[in-house]
Amino acid sequence: MIWNEHIECMSRDELREIQSKRLCETVERVYYNVPFYRKKMQELGLEPGDIKGIQDLSKLPFTTKQDLRDNYPFNLFAVPMSDVVRVHASSGTTGKPTVVGYTRRDLSSWSEVVARSLHCAGVAKNDRIQIAYGYGLFTGGLGIHYGAEKVGATVIPISGGNTKKQLNLMSDFESTVIACTPSYALYLAEAMEEQGIDPAKLKLKTGIFGAEPWTNNMRKQIEAKLHIKAMDIYGLSEVMGPGVACECSYQNGLHVAEDHFIPETISTDTLKNVDMGMEGELVFTTITKEALPILRYRTRDLTVLNYDKCECGRTMVRMQKCTGRSDDMLIIRGVNVFPSQIESVLLEMSETKPHYLLIVERHNNLDTLEIWVEVDEAFFSDEIRKLENLTKKITHEIQSTLGISVKVKLVEPKTIERSEGKAKRIIDRRKLV
Ligand SMILES: [Zn+2]
Repeated sequence: MIWNEHIECMSRDELREIQSKRLCETVERVYYNVPFYRKKMQELGLEPGDIKGIQDLSKLPFTTKQDLRDNYPFNLFAVPMSDVVRVHASSGTTGKPTVVGYTRRDLSSWSEVVARSLHCAGVAKNDRIQIAYGYGLFTGGLGIHYGAEKVGATVIPISGGNTKKQLNLMSDFESTVIACTPSYALYLAEAMEEQGIDPAKLKLKTGIFGAEPWTNNMRKQIEAKLHIKAMDIYGLSEVMGPGVACECSYQNGLHVAEDHFIPETISTDTLKNVDMGMEGELVFTTITKEALPILRYRTRDLTVLNYDKCECGRTMVRMQKCTGRSDDMLIIRGVNVFPSQIESVLLEMSETKPHYLLIVERHNNLDTLEIWVEVDEAFFSDEIRKLENLTKKITHEIQSTLGISVKVKLVEPKTIERSEGKAKRIIDRRKLV
């Protein structure tokens, strides 16, 4: 099932030509319409004529989330507001939100890439897709919505939250696809178990999961618990929203819509492109967007790009599933710690749930990491010895994975706050001390 075979399977040479032409147009657009980019390019001694094609991409300046905040709300827009037909915004954990805008043509490109993504993940006309991403300023809900309509699927725009209703409608409307964050999918599975709903009896067959990094172990759990195929969709509002990339049935990397977004991977130390096949921070340049064209946006997501042709026939580059971010990385006593490493350990144990909380503190100038882990209901007991042994086992496993000492605290099932959006897994108290 390929939505736009002409584009998605075109030769790399042909694609490169399209990318080069569109990159030059984008550079002109930002140089003449966005003071921020004109200034940045001038500082680098660059004029639009210096960019002759994709080979000159690395000469261009980077854009960061802070740049969007500094230009709040609309100062990075390259068209007059009368041409902007929609805005979205992401709530920042600190400071002002970042605002993004779309022209009519941008919205049309967005639906196109989401339609490709959904088709790529196996969603078609006969499907009924329950969209449990939040509708509103967040790009998740409306982004998937219009792509799903374009595919011709039956859209159930339930939005996020209200778990009981989610489950009722899923059963009554015979939803075949659920779109939400992977952590909410696990939460739904838990709620089903509680309410005695057998997922095998539902019509659900596919999950479209994104908006937060998740591991392949988590995928296995979701697939087993919900009896579905769990597909990874990638996107971020600064670049477009969901649909920047999506997995195909081979689940071996996410195909990037390269005729709209050019990906690069850079070293976070040198900011230079990493060698082919090496992990780096993912950077995107949009090449068709009108309202908010972005040059070399630093996503903070870590990935590897794979240019080999995929078995599905698509030639579009695949980005490896993002399981870590360069900015949710914790540095504890000089050691880099990714929450996903801890998650992987927990997912391999039958006694625990993949719900956890990391608490980082500083005592006498020494950083400490405490990990709260939820114990499976079936295993939770009053037997102190049993729980003590489990604590020891988890502590040992995590310590040997991370290479630092940690304190593990077992907590009762459902102690850790559930999120209907992105899971909050870290409390770093060091900044307050
Ligand atoms: Zn493929």
